[in-house]
Amino acid sequence: MRWQRTIATPSARAFARQMRGCQIVALTRRAKYLIFHLRADGNARKFLLVHLRMTGGFRLDRRATPRDKHTHVALQLDDGRELRFRDTRKFGRMWLVDDPAQVVGKLGPEPLEISAREFHRLFEKRRGKLKPLLLDQTFLAGLGNIYVDESLWYARLHPLRRAESLTRAERGRLYRAIRQVLTRAIAAGGTSIDVMYTRVNGASGGFRNSLRAFDREKRPCRRCGALIQKTVVGQRGTHFCPRCQKRAV
Ligand SMILES: [Zn+2]
Repeated sequence: MRWQRTIATPSARAFARQMRGCQIVALTRRAKYLIFHLRADGNARKFLLVHLRMTGGFRLDRRATPRDKHTHVALQLDDGRELRFRDTRKFGRMWLVDDPAQVVGKLGPEPLEISAREFHRLFEKRRGKLKPLLLDQTFLAGLGNIYVDESLWYARLHPLRRAESLTRAERGRLYRAIRQVLTRAIAAGGTSIDVMYTRVNGASGGFRNSLRAFDREKRPCRRCGALIQKTVVGQRGTHFCPRCQKRAV
């Protein structure tokens, strides 16, 4: 372990000790977290949660292959290979816990797993500007900056609209837009079966070519021809069409 802060919990030393002898039995995802399901000595279940953040990613290498300076954690497998966590910007984090809820318990629902009715209900308790609300992982889990800009473009909603001002029809549009954007992104970027090698930082490969708002500043809106504007909302670069996404309220 080269960069101990990658391990959020427990201590780096306890992490190394507790990981020893663990068997990886499954790999799942919740929001932006990868979840390794582990079986430890005595059949105890443990979970390794990993958030890749901006630049984190896994590589599978033979143990003899020299580790580069961006490899911060290396998990030695019993077949002579190492699962290496590389992270140039060092924002990625790992948690080794007995229950995933310790890390992801407060997350909101997955956008692709809730019904339209449940989506409408989410708005009953929440207020505030749309973009920060959609980025809030306790509201909906797993939406990143790119997907929020794209979803708002498709739904024709201004990033600064107040969530409580949306009509039922607008909420319905937003629900369908989010699901459309995520489904398309998964189809474009998720062609690799091997999740360890799939880029998870959003706009890669085919999906980047299909962007409508994000990263298209001063380029014509594909719906109306007005120039896409870029602004900052909640410290995040935010792209929208000033004509299609009018701030009504
Ligand atoms: Zn437009």
